[in-house]
Amino acid sequence: MTTSYDLIVIGGGPGGYAGAIRAAQLGFNTACVEKEEILGGTCLRVGCIPSKALLQSSELFHEAQHSFADHGIESDNLRFDLDKMLKRKERVVTTLGRGINALMKKNKITRYSGLGSIVGDAEGGLVRVAVTKSDGVEEISAKHVIIATGSKVAQLRGIQVDGDRIGTSAEALSYPEVPKHLVVIGAGAIGLELGSVWSRLGAEVTVLEYLDRIIPGMDTELAGSFQKILTKQGLKFRLGTRVTGAEVKDDGCLVHIEGSEPIECDRVLMAVGRVPNTQGLGLENTGIATDTRGRIPVNGHFQTSSPGIYAIGDVIAGPMLAHKAEEEAIACVERIITGYGHVDYSTIPYIVYTSPEFAGVGSTEALLKEQGIPYKKGSFPFMANGRAKAMAISEGMVKVLAHAETDRVLGVHILGVQAGELIAEAAAAMSYGASSEDLARTCHAHPTLAETIKEAAMAVDGRAIHM
Ligand code: NAD
Repeated sequence: MTTSYDLIVIGGGPGGYAGAIRAAQLGFNTACVEKEEILGGTCLRVGCIPSKALLQSSELFHEAQHSFADHGIESDNLRFDLDKMLKRKERVVTTLGRGINALMKKNKITRYSGLGSIVGDAEGGLVRVAVTKSDGVEEISAKHVIIATGSKVAQLRGIQVDGDRIGTSAEALSYPEVPKHLVVIGAGAIGLELGSVWSRLGAEVTVLEYLDRIIPGMDTELAGSFQKILTKQGLKFRLGTRVTGAEVKDDGCLVHIEGSEPIECDRVLMAVGRVPNTQGLGLENTGIATDTRGRIPVNGHFQTSSPGIYAIGDVIAGPMLAHKAEEEAIACVERIITGYGHVDYSTIPYIVYTSPEFAGVGSTEALLKEQGIPYKKGSFPFMANGRAKAMAISEGMVKVLAHAETDRVLGVHILGVQAGELIAEAAAAMSYGASSEDLARTCHAHPTLAETIKEAAMAVDGRAIHM
């Protein structure tokens, strides 16, 4: 007899563990299978959280170096201890990992440590899952199984990641010393965040990007300003540059690019995207076939083609973001248990945690033009905001896009200090179907950075007060 559950979640990342907790809250006897010791997935172990810890430490150092004097603060003989910085980052990860373990216990979720794979389609209404552990294989079963196995780093042909000189974000979170010259392949969120960390700590950083812009998919105008700001901070960009290979040479590396001389450096960070993690999942034992990009096709309720098996997060279509996975996992579980569950894909925010931050929610101008949707826009610069001036920060701006006829907010894009926090107001407003007038008439405390959103909304009708 195998142990049987109402729900087994395969994968304990931000999607998987959140879905397991919600299922337990709704009374399901739930199990979660995870191969890594620490729950929380890539996001917690080698992604969002450790990178934000290093971004915070390196930003403080950069501030002390470049901004303190302006505030009248002397910081002679400033230096940092990289080892301590890395250890603090590890403590943040461990503490949060323990927190997730406690949540699993509190919600009486059974944790299986091992690699989960599906043995076959549902038989007698139960899906069988094998958990491969160091000491053997255990089989469990459930009426419902959610695949939440996330994604892994995409590889580039011609580049052999050696996990040392040529590595991914995982290695770039733990370089034992500051690289003299770091070459970053890909000007997406990972490349710019980790490129910023090492640049602030003293590395020469060259970012190679295939496209003619950085951060594809985000507001083009703001991305241009963003690139100028990052260039001023010391990052070097080579756009329209296709990397064809990289190799370790003596005690450094050589990066080969199409139509140009190779670049010498001492470390390479490959950040050209991620691919779904479906290998070893036993999909071949089910009726599930992945699409051309390796993703698991699901319907609007996250059901795969195999009864009782669902998929959420990075293994299905859509942006590969922790919060998108969490929303989907909760909606999937609620739909299974209560019959209702929904994700509003038009209000999923996207944030790049550099300094300044770059955040967006909803449609960009490019997308609205492509879709032929008439829109009006209002923008407001941080330079004209009292709180930003008091903080000695004035770069960037807020842009609000609203439907030309209905005034409904279709997108908000922010380049500026704390943009990642500010975007939550826009996402909440859009979730409630707000118009730019609603945002403009919402009383914002003064002086706050959030007033830039109100002013940008007022600017949609040409009535910003401070411009
Ligand atoms: P990405 O897809 O965001 O960016 C990769 C970049 O690499 C693209 O701009 C692409 O044009 C470029 N590229 C691809 N092949 C190239 C080549 N041969 N030469 C030069 N450039 C090339 O990928 P990422 O930054 O690795 O992030 C991976 C995933 O993780 C994304 O889905 C991202 O959204 C997510 N993520 C999000 C955050 C965040 O929200 N702050 C942070 C980290 C990662």
